[in-house]
Amino acid sequence: MPEIKILDQSTINKIAAGEVVERPSSVVKELVENSIDANASAVTVEIKEGGISFIRITDNGKGISKEDIQTAFIRHSTSKIKSIEDLVTVSSLGFRGEALASIAAVSQVEVITKTYDDITGVRYVIEGGKEISKEEIGCPEGTTIIVNNIFFNTPARRKFLKKPATEGAYVSELINKLALGNMHISFKFIYNNTIKLHTSGNNVLKDCIFNIYGKEIAKNIVPIEIKEDDFEIKGYIGKPSISRANRNYENYYINGRYIKSKIIMKAIEEGYKTKLTVHRYPFTAFYIKINPELIDVNVHPTKMEVRFHNESIMYSSFIKGINESLRKIDLIPEVTID
Ligand code: ADP
Ligand code: MG
Repeated sequence: MPEIKILDQSTINKIAAGEVVERPSSVVKELVENSIDANASAVTVEIKEGGISFIRITDNGKGISKEDIQTAFIRHSTSKIKSIEDLVTVSSLGFRGEALASIAAVSQVEVITKTYDDITGVRYVIEGGKEISKEEIGCPEGTTIIVNNIFFNTPARRKFLKKPATEGAYVSELINKLALGNMHISFKFIYNNTIKLHTSGNNVLKDCIFNIYGKEIAKNIVPIEIKEDDFEIKGYIGKPSISRANRNYENYYINGRYIKSKIIMKAIEEGYKTKLTVHRYPFTAFYIKINPELIDVNVHPTKMEVRFHNESIMYSSFIKGINESLRKIDLIPEVTID
């Protein structure tokens, strides 16, 4: 009897899903990034029970056609790249074609979507990777995706979820990051039927910071601008007086993508070294524009890590920029925001 066997497709899918879907916030991240890639100008995220039992994302983006809806849920299906060469210049947030397949493999999904050109839309239901129904319906342009009961069919994974309040806090934190990274999009976040966040989407960074973090933060930030041959960094950094005991207010985006980076973290620490005591962290909102050929975002399925080809220049530019902005603080008059 041979001992080695190829796993059945449903098991393969459930295992692969684990790379993309770890918890409700990872589902929200993938779905909102799809809305952003679809050129939505308004995105509403609604969750209940921390997102464990219910997530609904509604956008007014370009929608998915009836012909495409089933393919969209097949692993490695994407409209965003066609070949490996496209990876070098990819500007969309997604491109691996794994999110919808992964999410549907471990939850109960309902999609209602319509493209700008179609007269009617489609409602598609898929649970645990199995198609339940597909029907034509009348609906507005854009896409609504409802994700119920994450890990309903993988109890081992479900066990590792935290309390709803904790999972909900992760989602809330993520929406803040996504909203701050996309000031041209109006974000609404509804948690247990209460509106927790509503950004205007007017493309003014200071307004966006005010919408998300409130008056105290918006009043105590200074602009930062760094220009190098290969990249440009713009944004705001906080005065030392609004520092925090964790890194939750350190935000940075590369070509519109929210990322984490050890190099940037270190540069922030170094830049604020003489202004903050240890274990205090500043507010930052950095927007890095860089030639996509000089970074690699395909390091990990969640695409949260980025590799820079020229790390040391990036590092020293950050420190220089932070120092310059901090030096200006005393010269800038208090800003009043009502
Ligand atoms: P990827 O984003 O990597 O392409 P996904 O599995 O997230 O893969 O999505 C598969 C495809 O479904 C996308 O390439 C896109 O064409 C389509 N799609 C998903 N979500 C949306 C949305 N909200 N609006 C329009 N199209 C969408
Ligand atoms: Mg995607």
